[in-house]
Amino acid sequence: MIEAVRATENDKTVFKLRGSLVAGCAAQLETATTAAGRACAFDFADVTIVNSVGFREWIAFLTRFGVNRSIVFRDCGYPILVMIAMFPAFLGGAVLESILLEVRCVDCRRSAMQRLTAAAYAASGLAAARKPSCDVCKRPGASVTALEEVEDCLDRIAWGREAEPSG
Ligand SMILES: [Zn+2]
Repeated sequence: MIEAVRATENDKTVFKLRGSLVAGCAAQLETATTAAGRACAFDFADVTIVNSVGFREWIAFLTRFGVNRSIVFRDCGYPILVMIAMFPAFLGGAVLESILLEVRCVDCRRSAMQRLTAAAYAASGLAAARKPSCDVCKRPGASVTALEEVEDCLDRIAWGREAEPSG
């Protein structure tokens, strides 16, 4: 079951997705996105599961929905990033705006989620997720860094149509 809570942000319709992309999600998304405008964003922060049926339905939905629309993906966590990395059709013609990375303190080992914009990642890679101090333990020199496993995944992603070579 996937919910899509609609909000308006300037000229953009934002759909905050919540739940799982599994069998039946295409119909639920069609209903939730009726009469959406030309510019849309999907926020994936609360999407936890994508299974194989949901994956196929998502691509079918996005292919129809994306006609004559500009779409951005926002706050994609690891399960979504894996999908995009392995199957570029999951992103389709949309632009990846921001991702959510798990970061961990090198000292107390506590982890947290941190947002990274595509622009920040393009400029400095995972270093953009680095913070000089930890909000939890506040120990001197305790820096917070992204888990490196994600780097391989991020390297495989074509970051939306703007990243494609022109001509
Ligand atoms: Zn800490």
